[in-house]
Amino acid sequence: MHSSPRKTYSSSRWLKIFVALICLIILGLEGWRDWTERQDEFTRIEGEMRNLAKSLTQHAEDTFNLADAILVDIVDRIERQGTSPQDMAGMQAFFSERIQTLQALKTLTVFSENGFVLSSSLPGHTTVNAQHYTFFRHHAASLDRKWFFGPLIHDPIGGDRVLTLSRRLNKPDGSFGGVVQISIPPRYFANFFSRIDVGSEGSIVMISTADGKILSRYPFIERAIGLKPDASEWLLTGSPYGSGAYVSPIDGVLRLAGYQRNHVYPVVLLSSVSQQEALRSWMVEFQIRSLRVAVLVVLIIVLGWRLARELRRREQAEAELAVLATTDGLTGLANRRTFDSRLETEWLRASRDATPLSLFLIDVDQFKAYNDLYGHQQGDDCLRKVAKVIAEAMRRPSDFVARYGGEEIVVVLPDTNDEDAAKVAEAIRAGVEALAVQHQANPPSHILTISIGSVTQSPAFNRSHTGPADLIHMADKALYRAKQGGRNRVAIAQAA
Ligand code: GH3
Ligand code: MG
Ligand code: MG
Repeated sequence: MHSSPRKTYSSSRWLKIFVALICLIILGLEGWRDWTERQDEFTRIEGEMRNLAKSLTQHAEDTFNLADAILVDIVDRIERQGTSPQDMAGMQAFFSERIQTLQALKTLTVFSENGFVLSSSLPGHTTVNAQHYTFFRHHAASLDRKWFFGPLIHDPIGGDRVLTLSRRLNKPDGSFGGVVQISIPPRYFANFFSRIDVGSEGSIVMISTADGKILSRYPFIERAIGLKPDASEWLLTGSPYGSGAYVSPIDGVLRLAGYQRNHVYPVVLLSSVSQQEALRSWMVEFQIRSLRVAVLVVLIIVLGWRLARELRRREQAEAELAVLATTDGLTGLANRRTFDSRLETEWLRASRDATPLSLFLIDVDQFKAYNDLYGHQQGDDCLRKVAKVIAEAMRRPSDFVARYGGEEIVVVLPDTNDEDAAKVAEAIRAGVEALAVQHQANPPSHILTISIGSVTQSPAFNRSHTGPADLIHMADKALYRAKQGGRNRVAIAQAA
């Protein structure tokens, strides 16, 4: 009887666990999906950045190639014409014209073997000497006729910081005859980069692979030029191209970047967008979806919990109904129906276990008269008291009391022999007597008494009695004898 409410509780709890599990699965799947989409977005952006870096590197290479083509041209002219003042004066106009048409190039200068300016696209710097510049010293010391890509320097002509590309001039005898040098301003690249859309927080950086210093950058920040970022190692070594997230040492912005090193000139291009900005559209999607999922989950939980509550309520009501269906309303004892099935069970058990089974049929003495004398209500009260005395006389969990009908109560004592049954029956009889409830119509004691018909059988050993009905019949006969014998007594059924 007590197992039903617990079952009710656990089935509604199972529903809650199920609902919680469903919600967790939804959240898990959704979270996984969002995460994958975020990763896909990263991959896509990094791919874009790598492609951008690749084409920007190509642009840089083209720019340097253009400058170098001019260098080659000039070196060729000078080596054929010589460096006399007249020759140089004739070339001056040509220089200015070439350089002015090309935004990428700031100055073109020819230095003598002593480092003095022989001619320049920017005239009026005749006192400048380039001897201590890296590019000059390189050419003076090396017979190599290849271009030289110099580190960032203050332009010998004009002071701004510039990238330099230069070539050696040879005298007819092959000895050092000077240097032809071109200055490229970092701003040129920054201007070019500015035409590319990398969002409001993106950046494009050109770094020298020779010394790791920043050569140009968009957005253009003067102090960043010439800086050597700590974390630039991955740009300079390993794979010539790649991508990844990094925190900018210049402005602290977390960016998604792609890079490409040039295989001709010692530069690497890094293009990047701010991670936050790049993920903005994903973030908006994510927030909308999260909201939808949250609403869905809350809805499922609310409905699930309501359903669980309703289930619990119903099952509780069912359990209560089940209790009502098996008990007697007046005495609280088991009812006749419960008794019938219980007796059947105990009979079979006794038969199987080869144990004795005892049964009492108890009847209140002169109860009709009691009702007549004291009223029906009093009678009901008495029945409750008697039922209580009987129920309290039960010692084992398997002992069983039921209201058989009217003022008759039946007791089943499994695995109890006639001797022990007689003791219990006597205890019950004495218990009711001890209540000392006045009953004037019940002579000779004039108090409320009961009579008990007791029977004990061992179904396994007694083949002549085939069912529990016989047990009741025998108890009834014994009860009759108890009544005949003067009431307020226990009569034990005779063996058939
Ligand atoms: P006896 O000593 O021979 O048993 O005499 P008795 O009057 O008790 O006879 P019987 O057992 O036939 O009595 C049945 C009476 O019990 C009838 C009815 O008045 C009374 N009775 C049966 N059920 C109830 C009940 O639920 N409440 C009340 N108050 N009385 C009941
Ligand atoms: Mg009766
Ligand atoms: Mg009676």
